[in-house]
Amino acid sequence: MELSRSYFFTLREQAKDEESISGNLLTRAGMIKKSSSGVYMYLPLGYKVLKNIERIVREEMENAGAGELLMPALIQEEVYEKSGRRDAFGHDMFNLEDRFGKRYVLAPTHEELFVEAARMKIKSYKDMPFNIYQIQTKFRDEPRPRYGVIRVREFLMKDAYSFDRDEKGLNDSYNVMYNAYKKIFARLGINCAIVKSDTGAMGGLLSEEFQAVTDIGEDKLVICNECGYAANSEIAKCTLLTNKSDEELKERSLIKTPNAGTIEEVSKLINEDASKFVKTLIYKIDEKFYAVLVKGCHDVNEAKIKKLLKASEVVLASFEEVEEVTGAKVGFAGPIGLDIPVIIDNEVMNMKNFIVGANKTDYHYKDVNLEDFNYLLVDDIRSITKDDKCPKCGKEISFKNGIEVGNTFKLGTKYSESLDLTYLDKDNNLNPVWMGCYGIGLGRCMAACVEQHNDEKGIIWPMEIAPFKVTIVVVNVNDDSQMDAANYLYKELRNNNISTILDDRNERPGVKFNDMDLIGIPIRITVGNKIKDGIVEIKQRTNESFEEISLYDACARVEDIIDGE
Ligand code: ATP
Ligand code: MG
Repeated sequence: MELSRSYFFTLREQAKDEESISGNLLTRAGMIKKSSSGVYMYLPLGYKVLKNIERIVREEMENAGAGELLMPALIQEEVYEKSGRRDAFGHDMFNLEDRFGKRYVLAPTHEELFVEAARMKIKSYKDMPFNIYQIQTKFRDEPRPRYGVIRVREFLMKDAYSFDRDEKGLNDSYNVMYNAYKKIFARLGINCAIVKSDTGAMGGLLSEEFQAVTDIGEDKLVICNECGYAANSEIAKCTLLTNKSDEELKERSLIKTPNAGTIEEVSKLINEDASKFVKTLIYKIDEKFYAVLVKGCHDVNEAKIKKLLKASEVVLASFEEVEEVTGAKVGFAGPIGLDIPVIIDNEVMNMKNFIVGANKTDYHYKDVNLEDFNYLLVDDIRSITKDDKCPKCGKEISFKNGIEVGNTFKLGTKYSESLDLTYLDKDNNLNPVWMGCYGIGLGRCMAACVEQHNDEKGIIWPMEIAPFKVTIVVVNVNDDSQMDAANYLYKELRNNNISTILDDRNERPGVKFNDMDLIGIPIRITVGNKIKDGIVEIKQRTNESFEEISLYDACARVEDIIDGE
């Protein structure tokens, strides 16, 4: 790419409304541009990176024996109704209608159509195993698109699906994909933690996430350094922290707590320890109100509630709704006298004489006990905290943030049963097919990579996915000897299949160096005054120092650097 004649720009100032490092750097590097909330353009340099990621993913899928196909994005809504997933996706699906009033959706994922495709091939046990995949655009109406291309509403996903006769077959297919994923993320230069996670809307037996460990990751990971346990905190089991209270049961009393709606305020006002409090949160779960009780120092884990109630949407009630349900302002909700179902966290079961809101503005109840109200369910519904121990070995745990770049599922027979995908075994009996599915978000990988590889100057692309491996910066484009040497090198590198930028813009060298650092090209060759002696400078993006080398040795040296990666 000769920059003087190409679509190329960078932004010097911070990108507007991009709060993540990757969103900001990719925008400033002229690689992406926001079109609307959660919808992005991939500009030439960014598209090159995306294509490189796609190439690596494709190579490893082919190595794993998966066959590529392409599904439509526009799918009749009834397809998801039949599989029972229309409701599970709820508002996340984009809906549309054709001219005849037939309802369609833009596919957020493709299990259903892959089952249809598999049905074409599968008759008997001899027709399996196999694995098919696509690299295609998905649409999800995310409630909070953010972090550049990390959480968007239109994105490129690789989704693969394996089909097997039985569980053993599924386990084998799963392992092949699992190992392919490890290779892919290593090649992409993404440092991943592999964690167990919620099977969520997909259902199934096992879900493991490949999480790029970064500060901004929206997923909280729980990791035990002792036994290797690693889980998304959404599902990490909590062990009981509260010992069974041996207090005598006391008589409940109503106490006035004017303007004190938080635990801190009430505990100060009435001089009671914060550990005496039980929080009551009003949730709207699939359009029905519930009261959820956790110990004051704990947080409700919405994913656990979702799973417990097999719900598709769990949202906190609005202020108005809380007032409507409890008859009191927010901050004064409690379980006594509520006529909605109550769900309690395990920890609360060990408490006695606790404090709750009185469903009356400016009032709380003191010395409340489990006998004082009805409840529907008791379970582990809180989020794991740093005080918890590893649920597997009981040792210390630590927390990290992660961006989920890939996900592998053992679906088992969930879809084959709901969509009736069967095969005849050796004895002519009909059996359900065993499925696995495997996703990777390509744009999200690109962003996760930037989150992990950057410095104050900009992006530092790993060699395999860099938009170009080399950039030749010409210090003075009006000097013929410099331009001739640069053109010679440009041609030679390209003849050796090394993707190269020729920065022949009539700009100050400092501007060019800054731009090339910002866009993260791994190797920079500077052609300047020393060309008089036949010398150019080679500098790697990851090193501060540079080496001087003869113009005619430069290409071989670049090849060595690339091979050494
Ligand atoms: P998340 O929990 O982050 O919403 P998910 O578990 O719903 O993701 P999957 O259905 O497992 O996502 O999709 C497979 C992969 O697609 C994810 O691992 C991720 O890399 C990518 N992906 C999912 N949602 C988005 C999104 N909104 N924007 C960009 N990439 C996404
Ligand atoms: Mg996932």
